[in-house]
Amino acid sequence: MGDLARAVFLDRDGTLNLEKHYLSKPEELELFEGVPESLSLLQSAGMELFVVTNQSGIGRGYFSEEDMHRVHDRLCSILRPYGVTFRHIYFAPEVPGQPSYGRKPSPQFLWDAARDYRLDLKQSFMIGDKLCDLQCGWAAGVATSILVRTGYGAQLEQAGVEPEGPFHRVHDLPEAADWILQKA
Ligand SMILES: [Mg+2]
Repeated sequence: MGDLARAVFLDRDGTLNLEKHYLSKPEELELFEGVPESLSLLQSAGMELFVVTNQSGIGRGYFSEEDMHRVHDRLCSILRPYGVTFRHIYFAPEVPGQPSYGRKPSPQFLWDAARDYRLDLKQSFMIGDKLCDLQCGWAAGVATSILVRTGYGAQLEQAGVEPEGPFHRVHDLPEAADWILQKA
């Protein structure tokens, strides 16, 4: 029985990479500035990295699960030179309103990760650009849900939407990583 690890759960579109309408082609994948370096810093500090992504484009028939895996292969190959590896990439292919095991705001994938990778969720973080990312983090019981202004995050702020639970707002993923590392 060793100590439990800490983790950072990352939304994909709008958080790691530019939000593009139903991104399905590897060549369309464009990471935000500083993302590889920031992930590397988090990982070096002992945080396990996970991606948790809703991919309703699969359920809608816009692209296949294979297409998504090709995007993830490219994501991983961009990050590999930085020494960054995701322990697991969780995805939910269902459309909103369909029964779904893990579609955010469901906390199920975070609970699965905690069980399978021996994580302490109370010392872990969820980062995303939408309310459903925050809600997922709250329901899972992470230390802090972090809202980035990239992706849809800025629109939320401009629309005056106030999340109904505790969260920390930052400009982008590098700022989120800095904040986590200062707390660690
Ligand atoms: Mg997103």
